[in-house]
Formats: sequence, structure tokens, C-alpha cells
Amino acid sequence: MIVNNFKVLIKNNFTTFTAAFFSEGSSESFIVSVRLLSNQASSTIPYNAFFVLAVPIAIKLKENLIFEGTVSQKIYSNLVKANKKYFKFHKEKFNIKTNILIETKNNNQEYAQFFTLGLDSMYTLFKNQKLNPLRISYLIYIDGFDIRLSRKQLLKKTHTNILKVAKKLNKEVIFISCNIRDLSDKILEWSKYHGAAIAGCAHCTRDTINHIIINSADSYLFQEAKNTGTGKEIDKIWSSERKIFCTGGLGLDRLSKAQKLVNGDFSELVYSFLRVCWVNSEENINLLNCCKCEKCFRTYLVLIAAGAPIKMLAFNMLDLKNLSKVVLPYDNVAAMMTWKKAVKAIFKRQDLEELQPHLENIFDNEVKSF
Ligand SMILES: [Zn+2]
Repeated sequence: MIVNNFKVLIKNNFTTFTAAFFSEGSSESFIVSVRLLSNQASSTIPYNAFFVLAVPIAIKLKENLIFEGTVSQKIYSNLVKANKKYFKFHKEKFNIKTNILIETKNNNQEYAQFFTLGLDSMYTLFKNQKLNPLRISYLIYIDGFDIRLSRKQLLKKTHTNILKVAKKLNKEVIFISCNIRDLSDKILEWSKYHGAAIAGCAHCTRDTINHIIINSADSYLFQEAKNTGTGKEIDKIWSSERKIFCTGGLGLDRLSKAQKLVNGDFSELVYSFLRVCWVNSEENINLLNCCKCEKCFRTYLVLIAAGAPIKMLAFNMLDLKNLSKVVLPYDNVAAMMTWKKAVKAIFKRQDLEELQPHLENIFDNEVKSF
């Protein structure tokens, strides 16, 4: 794969960085574009961003990578060092040809965190807020990842809610818009690419930001679910001399994070703004969560198990009668562990007796499905 034709366009206070990706095996090319407010954008073309975005794609296409930009020595050697683990992850070997540069270190101490309004994001944010309210300065949200660019109303609503949380905690929000997922979905699974996609976007942010926190889910806790696109070992590979990635929220499963959120100072923000649903219902744009899908039920129940009130604005349309229609994710070990822990905890609580009849026999189909 060849990556070249890097461009920057500054218009109406927005900066758009683009690069062309050519696949060796076909005449097809695609233009990767990342757009953000100019005062939040890198002052130079962020070659590292496009390099990070290109590596997993080249590996997946089983092509060598010819990158006609200048890449941080640190990212390059991280990749070489991670060879065994990283290439095992993608199950292919490949060669990289590019110019390598030792970047000057950035002595700033500005922290940014990826923030989607999800449970892992909220946990990282509120934990850091408690430890040091000034540590994280920026929240980064990317249009086109969990919510596609075409869903303008839903994106607007999500932006509004992110801004409300950010205002409470005195954070600046960096909204990035990109076509990365539209292109990558045609080539490789999002679950194996999203870490690089997130890191690539972070490399486009302004030069003063030098620590970026990627939120950890709990799938790495389970042997069967280790091959994901983000995590402690993968995230740090994308660190340059100037931008360092670390993984937030390690060591806790879903129920433990929910307990910390419910018992923390910002539980009301969780109940009002938590957004975990990937269904992105068209029916009602005002719904944060569809309140019908497996993920909505799983997250609702784990919060209840942790001590959250039965009525929460984030799940205001959830009706436990619909639980019988939900198909449990038997092939997702981490998700099933959450279901089991949540249901077990709810059955232990006398004050939740009214919920218990809905949860009886819920795992009955498990043996068949395994
Ligand atoms: Zn849902």
C-alpha cells in the first residue's frame, strides 16, 4: 500500500487533513480525511496520524507499506519491538518503507481523554477528576465512529450532552469528524481497528497535548477476548516522542466500574447522560439509548446491581417486560460475565425483589448456544 498526497485545508476555522491511500493490488484509492477546529489542530501535517491509520490496513491487505511521509522514530521502533505480539495479533508479516525522524520531545503536560458518554469513558473521567481535577484538560469525541456521519441529529444531541458534562467538570471538548470508519469497514473489522483509528485522530490534535488516555473495556480480562484493537499493549505502540498514549480504567470489570460510578460524586451525570447503545434508534431521536437492545439491558442491569435508582433518565424508556425478547451474547465472554454478575447481585438484594421475576431462567438457553 502506498500512502502519499498529504494535504491540509484551512477553511472557516476548521482544519482538514487528508492523505491518499493506494492499494498495490488495485487501482482503487481512498482519501482519509480528519477535520477539527483549527485552534485544536496540529500546526503541521500530522504524518504520524496517517501512518498509524495505515499500518493495520496494510497488514490486513497483506501488502508492504510505502509511506511517503516522515514518521516518528518512536512509533516505528514501537512497532518493531511489538513485532511478535503485534504481528501475531494480525497474523501476517509485512515491511515498512518510510522516512524516520526523532521528534523533539514536547515538555507540556496537557492531558486529553477520549470521551463517548459510555461507561468506560465516564469511569476514566470521574476517577481522574477525583484524583486531580486539573489533570485532564480535553475530552475528544469523534464523529463517524460509534455514530456515523449521516446521523446528524443524533450527533448533535450527543455533542450537546458531551458539552453539558464537560461544562460541569470544566473541560474543553475537541470534536473531530472523519471518514475513517466508512473506509476501514470495507477492509477490516472495527473491533480490530478502532484503537489505531482513535490514536490516528489523536495525532491530529494540537501540539500542546502530549498525554492521551484511551478507555479500556474489560474484555482483556478474559483470555478468549484478548484479540481486540485496543488495550494496554496495543495502545502504547502508537505513542510518538510528542504524544503518549495510555490506557485508562485497567483492572476493573464492568460491575466494579458501575459501583464506583454509582457511589461517586458524579452519579447524577451518569444517570442523565450515559450513552451505551449502538442501535442508534431512528424512532426517537431524543432517546439516548434505544432501551430495547442487549447492550442497553446489560448496562442498565449492571448499574441497578451496583445500586443505581430503578428510574434513570438515560434508560427512561426501558421496560423489563421486553427483556424476554433480548438475545444474550453467548459468544462474548466479557459481556456474558457482566450479565451473570449483574443478575447474581440483583438476586442478592431484597430491595430489588420486584425485578427478580424478570430475570429468572434468563440463562436457560446458554448450554444450547455454547
Ligand atoms: Zn440499545
